[in-house]
Amino acid sequence: MKITDLKCAVIGSNPIVRIVTDEGIDGYGEIEASKPYLKPHVLFYKDLLLGEDPTNVERVMLKIRRLGSFKPWGSAVSAIEMALWDIAGKAAGVPVYKLLGGKVRDRVRVYNGGVRFEMQGYSPKDYAENMRKMKEAPEGFTIIKQGIGFHSAMPHQVPDFTYGEVNTGKFHPNRGPLTERGLKHIISCVEAMKEVLGDEVGLALDCGPGFMVPDAIRLAKALEPLNVMWLEDMITGDYVPYVLADVYREVTRSTSTPIHTGEQIYLRQNFKDLIERHAVNVIGPDPCDIGGIAELKWVAEYADLHGILIAPHGVLDGLLGLAALVQVSATLPQNYIAFEYPVGRPQWWYEIVEGLPNPIVKDGFIEVWDKPGMGVNLIPEAAQKYLREEDQDFFD
Ligand SMILES: [Mg+2]
Repeated sequence: MKITDLKCAVIGSNPIVRIVTDEGIDGYGEIEASKPYLKPHVLFYKDLLLGEDPTNVERVMLKIRRLGSFKPWGSAVSAIEMALWDIAGKAAGVPVYKLLGGKVRDRVRVYNGGVRFEMQGYSPKDYAENMRKMKEAPEGFTIIKQGIGFHSAMPHQVPDFTYGEVNTGKFHPNRGPLTERGLKHIISCVEAMKEVLGDEVGLALDCGPGFMVPDAIRLAKALEPLNVMWLEDMITGDYVPYVLADVYREVTRSTSTPIHTGEQIYLRQNFKDLIERHAVNVIGPDPCDIGGIAELKWVAEYADLHGILIAPHGVLDGLLGLAALVQVSATLPQNYIAFEYPVGRPQWWYEIVEGLPNPIVKDGFIEVWDKPGMGVNLIPEAAQKYLREEDQDFFD
């Protein structure tokens, strides 16, 4: 089998990769909804792929894996990797999880990162109310994640929150020392959310990036009695293109609250220090950023060898990304907690893909399906009307 074309269309705001072959089998990959600008970056790899056998996934990846970087610049390589696995599975007539070593679990736990309700404010009462709605969501999530601190509007909505300069805008731009009032405000909001969840539903907190080490340690220690699932990205994270394992290690060694990072990190090499130095308790790579699902699987195994847990990121990965998360998570070792559940936005996404169960999430889990490849495909006749002018030939 040979690759004859690499295409990319921005559908909604997700760049979608389609790899076409000479045997009539095609494969899909998806990039986060926050990155519609990556289409030219996907097409940059086209000349390197043409003529290659897509079922030799690793041989193809060796040609392009070096040519990516931390979020958002690892996404194109990651989406291509997933499309290759999709083809390999379809060609062999088996679900991708079989090619990754087979299932460890028949259903995969997800955590709520995608089912959201608008915050009415940033007081403890507002956090409690918002958490109540998420707890009552029909998906029956067993773990819910919420943004606090620098990963929320607190820096500009809570008076005297930080001694740092306060910026507004995308990509969590704030960083700096917390005031005592700021620290106490975060703790009160977490207490209010735990009041709602009790010990029935786990609470994970996305915190930054932006914390200074002493504040990170104070917060983590103050929350110890509340048994939160993890504190995510306090030091680095999101669009920060470096790891700072030693700084994370200082925080992690100071507290029994689990410390988490990794959604922006590209490739196993960049997880090496975090894992070998036991710098965090939980890693959260995103298959759409790390370099693909096999890369994520490799890092998960290496983390397990070092006593580190994994909770893959995925909130903006869309419905094809969801399929990839299900396939790889079915194969992960027993350090697996749950992956972050993405939803299709806009709602019409559910009309243009086929293969997802209905409902998708039951009691906080997704049943792993057995269809060949990723098992979820775009329906060309349904998707055509959502293609942009310049992408009209995407399905040709
Ligand atoms: Mg995060």
